[in-house]
Amino acid sequence: MAGLSIKDARKHFGTTEVLKGVSIDVADGEFTVIVGPSGCGKSTLLRSVAGLEELTNGRIRIGDRDVTGLAPSERGIAMVFQSYALYPHLTVYENMAFALRIAKADKVAIDAAVRRAAAILNIEPLLDRKPAALSGGQRQRVAIGRAIVRQPQIFLFDEPLSNLDADLRVRMRYEFAELHRQLGTTTLYVTHDQVEAMTLADRIIVMRDGRIEQVGTPRELYARPANIFVAQFLGTPR
Ligand code: ADP
Ligand code: MG
Repeated sequence: MAGLSIKDARKHFGTTEVLKGVSIDVADGEFTVIVGPSGCGKSTLLRSVAGLEELTNGRIRIGDRDVTGLAPSERGIAMVFQSYALYPHLTVYENMAFALRIAKADKVAIDAAVRRAAAILNIEPLLDRKPAALSGGQRQRVAIGRAIVRQPQIFLFDEPLSNLDADLRVRMRYEFAELHRQLGTTTLYVTHDQVEAMTLADRIIVMRDGRIEQVGTPRELYARPANIFVAQFLGTPR
């Protein structure tokens, strides 16, 4: 495992600056949640860490490696989005095994990784099904399973629960907490849901308009918000 360090991340789309110098350190094994209103740059930041966007300026380190400029597959990261596209023609098992097959892992290792992830996520009975035969929550578990089997150094989650209904969202919240307890993987998790952030985070980063407003434990932010924006954002559950 390894920690994650983002130094002075800046990103322009044309003449618009959407990341205005963001620096974040996530300690080894820490679960850090980024919250902030829609459009403040959360996804752009995560996509930049994953290597799906190129920063205009800044450096990204994972453990002792500078990964700035590396291809996504070389970074040791697994990312789960809110719209989790599973391969519809493949079974759950094959969806989870896919990345390992591409990486030419051996059959026995693939089988062990898929079954271990399936056990953690409680989807062992679903391994032979196709995505069309799964509920929304089950599909999201498979998407997370695909991330787990790769045994990444870092998990990136971009609003992974926002397409699920409210009940399921609450249940999956506990599953994320349990997953982290079991695997301990360094995690950067983006949400615009304050309750999700307060429940899951070791540390919360509040973003607004391409900048960080405040960083702290849920307790610190709740007790001592740095300004009215943070207080209002964390204080009004939706
Ligand atoms: P969030 O995830 O916090 O809702 P985003 O990172 O998706 O915010 O977007 C931040 C800003 O960057 C928004 O104003 C969005 O319109 C803009 N943006 C995101 N991606 C692109 C892109 N590919 N081209 C131009 N503008 C973009
Ligand atoms: Mg987003």
